[in-house]
Amino acid sequence: MAALQVLSVVSEIFPLVKTGGLADVAGALPGALAAEGVEMRTVVPGYPAVKAALEAPKTVARIADLFGGPATIVAARAAGLDLFVVDAPHLFDRPGNPYHDGDGVDWPDNPFRFAGLARAAAEVGLGAVDGFRPAVVHTHDWQTGLTAAYMEYDGRDRPGTVATIHNLAFQGQYPKELLAPLGLPPHAWGVEGVEYYDTIGYLKAALRMSDRITTVSPTYAAEIRSGEGGMGLAGLLAGRAEVVSGILNGIDTDVWDPAKDPLLPNHYDAVSSWSRRGNKSALQRRFKLRADRQAMVFGVVSRLSWQKGLDMVLEGIETILACGGQLALLGSGDRDLVAGFRRAAAAHPGRVGCIIGYDESLAHLIQAGADVLLVPSRFEPCGLTQLCALRYGAIPLVTRVGGLADTIIDANEMALEAGTGTGIMFTPPNVDMFRAAVQRAAGLYEDQDVWQRLIRNAMRTDVSWARSAARYAALYRGLVAERGG
Ligand code: ADP
Repeated sequence: MAALQVLSVVSEIFPLVKTGGLADVAGALPGALAAEGVEMRTVVPGYPAVKAALEAPKTVARIADLFGGPATIVAARAAGLDLFVVDAPHLFDRPGNPYHDGDGVDWPDNPFRFAGLARAAAEVGLGAVDGFRPAVVHTHDWQTGLTAAYMEYDGRDRPGTVATIHNLAFQGQYPKELLAPLGLPPHAWGVEGVEYYDTIGYLKAALRMSDRITTVSPTYAAEIRSGEGGMGLAGLLAGRAEVVSGILNGIDTDVWDPAKDPLLPNHYDAVSSWSRRGNKSALQRRFKLRADRQAMVFGVVSRLSWQKGLDMVLEGIETILACGGQLALLGSGDRDLVAGFRRAAAAHPGRVGCIIGYDESLAHLIQAGADVLLVPSRFEPCGLTQLCALRYGAIPLVTRVGGLADTIIDANEMALEAGTGTGIMFTPPNVDMFRAAVQRAAGLYEDQDVWQRLIRNAMRTDVSWARSAARYAALYRGLVAERGG
């Protein structure tokens, strides 16, 4: 079968620029899809960190005026990825985070920065680069949402389009007065176009105008079609239900491999998981927790936000301690949560440790050393940390929502009997149910035979991209066939 050319468009990509799971997915998809006969190239903004990493960069197209300055499209490889970099210094040559300044304030020209990314991607999709004609353009989240609109309104023959929702909570809404400055035609203003509650909706445009919509788990695909889960877009998504599907994320099982992870003091696999002990000791030292092999260590690796439900952990901390547990938390975000966890660490020295910040190597150590990984999200499109936890044998304790419901098998009595449980799940997301779940985990931990069985089940779960890559490839091929390609 001939390789299928797909153009992915994204605002962050691991390992070059990452603020969350979106980058992980964008970075892993091309490699996973290669095994399915799909050649994926990725359009990304020319942030300083991206430009610094490019190997053999070559200018392949120019755009005279991309919202206030000239831009070039640079083809290059970086970290094993085939990229088209939108080199537009007036939009992307800024230090730090892709979305906001050092104080967490969104860059004021974000509507143009991400319209610029989308416009440039649309040009590449429509054939601006000699010898490259993708069959499908695949966009991710609101930042790239206008790509489908620009291609649609251009009028030229366009490739098939797929929009993936990684998180419906971020939608990219800007004032309607920007319609003309964004280069959108007057007839784009309407429910069939970019109009969204009297604003220009970038994600809405993608969901209205793309041929296919995917999100990152089957349960989230169902949750977003109704009520609160739809966050204003439920009606649109329900109306397009026949083109909406959920495809689970995987993780890069080379980066996340406890048998050879260079970031770990001790290596292990499913049959030598007792070697996790050395990692647990290292983790206790790093988080200034009491050296105690018996203590059950609860870990957190997360953005600190309402979505992630960590206020429940803060409120339920006494239950963790009453069970003889310790807490090791790594995260950054919400100021109140940061203050709350700092207070908890000060109040319970040796039993609660928190490190505020973003630290890839500490994230690996937590997964390899903690007994339990807490992911009590209020909603969770897919979630990656529970997949890392499965792979590393940290038993996930999660809410029954979105991708958490699709990836964890609750270790209830029947599942234990059948030898299939991989985690502890609770619903609804509230602190009482969280406390009960912690107590249930502690009960299971008391019987180390049961616990070791859980670890083995977890570590044997296939969390790779293989299955999902095949599903994306089938989706692309189905779309191309439908469009007569
Ligand atoms: P989201 O994208 O909603 O933040 P995901 O679970 O999908 O959540 O992905 C989060 C990714 O970011 C994971 O790879 C996780 O390991 C990583 N991560 C989150 N917070 C931190 C942190 N403070 N330090 C290191 N890695 C983190």
